[in-house]
Formats: sequence, C-alpha cells, structure tokens
Amino acid sequence: MSEPSRTFPGTGSIEVIVGSMYSGKTEELIRRLRRAQIARQRVEIFKPGIDDRYARDAIVSHSELRIPSRSVENAADVLRHAHEAQVIGIDEGQFLGPDLVEVCEKLARMGKRVIVAGLDQDYLGRPFEPMPQLLAIAEYITKTLAICVVCGAPANRTYRKVQRGGRVVVGGAEIYEARCRRCYDLGRRAKPAAESTGEPHAKPHAARPRVRRTAAARRRRVR
Ligand SMILES: [Zn+2]
Repeated sequence: MSEPSRTFPGTGSIEVIVGSMYSGKTEELIRRLRRAQIARQRVEIFKPGIDDRYARDAIVSHSELRIPSRSVENAADVLRHAHEAQVIGIDEGQFLGPDLVEVCEKLARMGKRVIVAGLDQDYLGRPFEPMPQLLAIAEYITKTLAICVVCGAPANRTYRKVQRGGRVVVGGAEIYEARCRRCYDLGRRAKPAAESTGEPHAKPHAARPRVRRTAAARRRRVR
C-alpha cells in the first residue's frame, strides 16, 4: 500500500516516498504534511542542512510548493526535535546517513507517523542508503516517476550531466536530469567513448534515440 487511507493516532508507522529527481517526491511529502496540519496534528518537518538549494528554513518542491522546516545535520538531530510531534516529515533522507533507520524506528515505536522522502538511487543507479533499508521496514511505500527528458517515457533514473564529484553533488537542472532506463544507459555508454577518442566536444546526445519529445518533457528542459 502506498499511503495510509486513514491514520490511527498513536499506532506509529513509517511511510517512504522515493524516486528520481524531478519525480515529485517533495511535492507528495508536502501534500501529506499539509493534510496533517489541516487536521490539527502536531507536525515537525526536517531537511538536511546540506540541501540549501532553495531555502534553508523550508522544504521547497521543484513546482515551488513550500512548507517551513528545520534544518538538521544528522539523524540524531531529528530525534532530538521530534518529541512533541505526532507527525514527522523528513525530506532528502538519503543525506542523513545510516542512523536514520534506527531513528525512524524509534519514532514509530513512540507512536508517531514518520514520512520520509528521498532518492532511491544515486547517479550511478545504485541503491542510495539508507533509503533501501527504510523501504524494507516501512508500512507504506510510494515510488514516484519523473518524465524522461530525452524520450518522454516514465523515468526512474537520475542522470548526472557533468563528470565531477563523488556520490553527493547537490544541484539542480544544470547537473541532473531524469531519464528512463534506456536513455540513461545510452547516455552513460556514449560519454566514456567520446572522451577516450579525445574529441573536444563529447556528445552524449548523439546516441539518443530519435523520439519526439513530449510537451511535458520540453517544458521540463527549459526550467
Ligand atoms: Zn528515455
């Protein structure tokens, strides 16, 4: 099941929302938290301090929905500030490290509703800890899909357009785009080949399938 149809206050549960970048994870997180606020539940919202792309004191979706949040450095900070809350929202869970799993367990055991959004895969398509572990222990899982910027198919991969940095490089459309499996693989194969020949301009686009882009994909590209 993806989302609780009704919540039982005091029972405790973990909900996980995962997908690639631009798949609407944060939007879905904000939607659930707003509903809890409207129902007059005590809500605490957290995001990692590393992610200050839009604001330091708010979670902001790519579609510019926003909700005030507390910036934290690690999972222990979440535990420290969540005692009064009935509902806890956490964005970009993949940046809070392995301790987040135990913290979410503790909070759920205290009877709280915990909702975590994050990337399920890194830019190489590898499971992005601790999201896989959270998926395993969650009661409710939602996988969100973006739209492939190349062909318009449903996309579950985050493609890094530049070759620099390690696993964590915080950025937006200048660095990342959503791609389907096929276009992701084509792009990854094209890059090293172009570089090894010493071409001044690597052209990953050359390997892209000739498929007409959908209007949604075009709109996304210009953002
Ligand atoms: Zn594609």
